[in-house]
Amino acid sequence: MSQQPYIDGFEFAASGGARAGRWPLRDLPRLRSSLAALDGELEYALRGTHDPMGRRALQLKLRGVLKLSCQRCLETMDFPLDVDAMLVLATSEAEIDADADDPAAPDRVLASREMPIRELIEDEVLLSLPFAPRHERCGTHHDSLGEQRRSPFAALSAMLDAPRGDGHDRRR
Ligand SMILES: [Zn+2]
Repeated sequence: MSQQPYIDGFEFAASGGARAGRWPLRDLPRLRSSLAALDGELEYALRGTHDPMGRRALQLKLRGVLKLSCQRCLETMDFPLDVDAMLVLATSEAEIDADADDPAAPDRVLASREMPIRELIEDEVLLSLPFAPRHERCGTHHDSLGEQRRSPFAALSAMLDAPRGDGHDRRR
């Protein structure tokens, strides 16, 4: 694997760096206790950018399906992960703390010359996980099969309905 596991934060942001690929779930050790199964992988895309105030930042997108344990019936459930995070780089913990009381402040991350991509991914996944995951309706495996059968068609029809050709990211 030729993929560099680290980025130089400020340099990556300033130069508009980009990394993308697939990250095996087994290689995200801090997620292990939260996941019901470790097979599979996440798609990630990390981009160097600037926030609207011109500060150097990282944009991290993650997609994948995680297996969690339902806290009601303890069966496995699919959790679709879809993260699009903007992390504004900070030079010190003090800079991060200064923003801590401001609810409108962006997410901050301490920049360094060697920022492990793995930790950025782990942090964002951990923030996205539900505190107590639960099936909408427990007990019928037919439900989850139904979900799986329906979803490819739902995705297809969403694609057909979507406006084409603007090439921009669609943000919430
Ligand atoms: Zn359940």
